[in-house]
Amino acid sequence: MLGQMMHRPLCTTTILSHARTAFPAARIISRGQDKSVSHFDFGQLSGRVAQLANWLVAQAIGVGDRVATLAWNDHRHLELYYAIAGIGAVCHTVNPRLPVDNIAYIIEHAEDRLLFVDPGFLPLLPDILAKVKNPPEIVLLSELAGSAAARQAIAAHDLGTYETLIQDQPEAFDWPEFDENTACGICYTSGTTGNPKGVLYSHRSTVLHAMQVAISFSSILREGQRVLSLVPLFHVNAWGLPYTCALVGASPVFAGPHLDGESLFELMQAEQVNSVWGVPTVLTSLLQEIDKRGCLPAGFDNILVGGSAVSASFIEAYEKLGISVNHAWGMTEMNPIGTQGSIAPEMQQLPRAELTRLKLRQGRKIFGIEMKLVDQAGQEIAQDGRQSGELLVRSNTTAAQYFKNPQATAEAFDAEGWFRTGDIANIDATGNLLITDRAKDLIKSGGEWISSLELENIILSHAAIADCAVVAAAHEKWDERPLIVAVPKRNPADYSAADKDALFAELLDLLRQNLPKWQLPDGLVLLDQLPLTATGKISKIKLREQFHTYFSKAE
Ligand code: AMP
Repeated sequence: MLGQMMHRPLCTTTILSHARTAFPAARIISRGQDKSVSHFDFGQLSGRVAQLANWLVAQAIGVGDRVATLAWNDHRHLELYYAIAGIGAVCHTVNPRLPVDNIAYIIEHAEDRLLFVDPGFLPLLPDILAKVKNPPEIVLLSELAGSAAARQAIAAHDLGTYETLIQDQPEAFDWPEFDENTACGICYTSGTTGNPKGVLYSHRSTVLHAMQVAISFSSILREGQRVLSLVPLFHVNAWGLPYTCALVGASPVFAGPHLDGESLFELMQAEQVNSVWGVPTVLTSLLQEIDKRGCLPAGFDNILVGGSAVSASFIEAYEKLGISVNHAWGMTEMNPIGTQGSIAPEMQQLPRAELTRLKLRQGRKIFGIEMKLVDQAGQEIAQDGRQSGELLVRSNTTAAQYFKNPQATAEAFDAEGWFRTGDIANIDATGNLLITDRAKDLIKSGGEWISSLELENIILSHAAIADCAVVAAAHEKWDERPLIVAVPKRNPADYSAADKDALFAELLDLLRQNLPKWQLPDGLVLLDQLPLTATGKISKIKLREQFHTYFSKAE
């Protein structure tokens, strides 16, 4: 017997219209290229979104058309999210940090018809457009002094500037109703090998994700809070923040292109930001700025960190300042959040060191996610906190396939339709997940696997180390052995060979206290910085390539 309830489609415009009426005090706070800050309420934002939707429809953009963005975090990018999806088209957020060949590939693969571009990215365009068979037409998001020549180079595709194009459009739009399974956005994963793979989000998955995240992160994401998203709108929907803030009445804050510690501190201080969301690298530069100034920005209360593993020293540094650290794990294919690392009430009295150890774990699944662990033969293993295996997930907010990519789809799902995350993890009796490595980053030594994340975490607790990665380097006898690539706090050039040997010996002493001897790294390299991927994570693939022959050379 079926229930007898109404069925209203879960569409992203319903979130915006809810915010407009329910949260008149909430603000969208947006800093531009010139560092000026604008404030809008959701009513004003809705008017601008309607103007943009009217203009898009006048360009004959319709259901299913892909419209791309190449832009920093600001109010216009948010307007694009809502307007494009609201008319049934698909918002394709392009990551400007990808290599030009990748950008051209995804624009062509997605068949983007329009591309909205921040003026700072104009110099990339001639190269990109030359590589795309049917290049999209371009809208410039704002003017930038000195960009006339760059604009001239794309004149054949240039439709005009955003504000000029939308200014005469009506501030109301009759939003169409469509099937909630209609696509609303597409994001490509920056795969470590091969071409990026597209994940096509639906309105339904996006609204459900926003509701799930709003419930799970209610302690930091609530009415009246100001939330600074350092997660780019061009990557994994900024963890759903464009929707979750509007859903709960929080005020999203966007930093524009200025992501250095000093600019972040100034924005937070001026705008009384409560919560900052980002990957460890960008939150570390904020921490350094706080250290330098010896004070916190006013109102700052908590961070949400995710995207790559955090270290105990990172958590302790923030918590010593009184900033609570919340941890999340997720991925592009999951809309993107899968877990939240809040501490259960009965655990909150644990000693500080225990709490830090708990916070290092990626946390419990948010509502709606199912998880299983499998061994190398694909057999399910116990969730006992000890056995590690590959993590597979299933949910209404997980991709069911990759866009126009049957081969990648065939590899990514098991026979029952579970998605293989590629993460190696254990899950303890309380359902708390610990990612121990990416499957591709595991180090295979003499037939045994060594997880790099545990080694890195211990190495980062050494006072002389600012950042590090442990990667596999080829070894004649053992197949692969771990190599530490570290950024010391002192300039690496100041280390004599003896200093470096002494540091390596200290690191091995530290590791020996926690790990079996065969897992201890065989070498140490000091660099002044680690290479990052397009999404701000340490690029282990680059390090592996660079140091592949380190041990054969050393011998
Ligand atoms: P992406 O799709 O680019 O967001 O990358 C997703 C991958 O980032 C995951 O599969 C994990 O390997 C990694 N990741 C995300 N969050 C965390 C976290 N909190 N701790 C460790 N790794 C993470």
